[in-house]
Amino acid sequence: MVLTGQHLIAANIIASSHGTFRAVNPTTGEPLECEFHEGGGEEVAIAADLAERDFDTFRQSSDIKRGELLETIAAQLVELKDPIIQRAHLETGLPLPRLEGELNRTVNQLKMFSQFVQHGHYKSTRIDPALPDREPLPKPDLRLSQIPLGPVAVFGASNFPLAFSVAGGDTASALAVGCPVIVKGHPAHPGTSELTGVAIQRAVQKSGLPGGIFSVIQGSGHEVGTALVKHPQIKAVAFTGSQAGGRSLFDLAAARPDPIPVFAEMGSVNPIFILPQILKENSQLLAHKYSESLTTGVGQFCTNPGLLFAVKGDDLSAFIAAVKEYLSQMNPLPMLHVGIKQNFNTKLEQLTSVRGVSRLVGSETPTTLDCYALPALLFLTADDFLQEPRIADEVFGPSSVVVQCESKEQMLVLAENLQGQLSATVHASIGEDDFCRQLFAILEKKAGRLILNDFPTGVEVCPSMHHGGPYPATTDSHFSSVGTTAIHRFLRPVCYQNFSKELLPRELQKNQD
Ligand code: NAP
Repeated sequence: MVLTGQHLIAANIIASSHGTFRAVNPTTGEPLECEFHEGGGEEVAIAADLAERDFDTFRQSSDIKRGELLETIAAQLVELKDPIIQRAHLETGLPLPRLEGELNRTVNQLKMFSQFVQHGHYKSTRIDPALPDREPLPKPDLRLSQIPLGPVAVFGASNFPLAFSVAGGDTASALAVGCPVIVKGHPAHPGTSELTGVAIQRAVQKSGLPGGIFSVIQGSGHEVGTALVKHPQIKAVAFTGSQAGGRSLFDLAAARPDPIPVFAEMGSVNPIFILPQILKENSQLLAHKYSESLTTGVGQFCTNPGLLFAVKGDDLSAFIAAVKEYLSQMNPLPMLHVGIKQNFNTKLEQLTSVRGVSRLVGSETPTTLDCYALPALLFLTADDFLQEPRIADEVFGPSSVVVQCESKEQMLVLAENLQGQLSATVHASIGEDDFCRQLFAILEKKAGRLILNDFPTGVEVCPSMHHGGPYPATTDSHFSSVGTTAIHRFLRPVCYQNFSKELLPRELQKNQD
């Protein structure tokens, strides 16, 4: 399939005149085929007006119809699977089997939202029948349902070019409830964005729904994103990406004359606590699994274990020696793009310069600007950790910090000092249950997913998953884009008082004769 490099706005392909940019193959440093048009405020205004124009038709379509739309998008993705995966491979350097798995995940996510919405119970309706004889005052008939917010701006992250991008959970959950979507294409994978966007455009056309419910605008800088978040027709923002990006879009949305919600899912260091008994029993296996978890996907996961706490002693020394051995044998691997690699180096440099930090694994910063990176392991004591909050900042890439505690009781203090996280993990033996309970009682306040004797990388997509957490993991800890609760981000409640059956929304018409 030939790429156009243009924006997909409603059912059309639209050029713009603000210049062009190219994607770069991170494994070779070569620019890839096709110039992509830089979007701006003008394209945003066209897409937003069309989204608003078609919002009423879309929101009034049936749950079955919208469910079918998601199924058709899934089918179109499968039809375009080969070109999508090939292009994503060139743009991200991610291995083909990983991308194939991610495409399947994206397809399954769409099907999950389709089934959920067609089931029809997602509006959490409530009915309080009238009590005309109530004293001292009669009670009116009150019924609650939910309606979609309006057009949603979606921002995907570079590390999931399919599952957290154009056709990812944000788009699927917004379309599921009748919100038009305008995606800001990620500048690191514009070709993948165009191809997945075409799959959605085709599905919208096949379903007979109006074209304005879906657009993709490309851009290599902040202009498109800023214009989208400020546009008065946009009623919510769904973002996956860095803390800096999520926070600035959140502040921008809050500064609008009519502030809108921003559901930003950002980075995290996903702390792991290894209790003394299990460390004694299993130090080698734990070292192996931890090393694997922190280097999978060249460490480019929001669930990467960036912090590990354990009590000092021979068992910790043996654990560290095994991790050092594993990591030292790894070859450099390409990160997603040069910006991410430079950021990785800069942040590692900053952490290494903190008082008390030693770098146990990881070469000096390479001077070349290519995308290849080696894993790094840093070490410091709990007392030094408590002096320097920067140590708990995300370093996006294959690195982690081991914090040596004086005692397991000190772990409780460290846990209390953590900021919000996507996940928190404890490794414990059966005999360590009492302490484990105390630790989880603290961690429950800090993270959206608690893990026992497992590792945080690998997020299962199913209704009970929660991939969120208190700030700065997200800007709204109630919700996550993973799992069916994601749709509640784009709905708001409306109460209907004293309505006749004929005027009530269909889902509220029961018990009204
Ligand atoms: P990013 O640099 O924040 O970019 C995400 C998107 O936001 C891009 O389209 C980017 O486009 C745009 N953007 C960023 N800052 C902006 C600003 N100030 N104004 C307007 N637009 C802005 O993130 P990334 O490097 O692609 O992704 C890696 C990060 O995502 C990591 O921190 C990782 O932990 C996180 N992540 C989180 C999750 C999760 O579920 N919590 C999942 C995957 C990844 P421009 O650069 O063109 O502006």
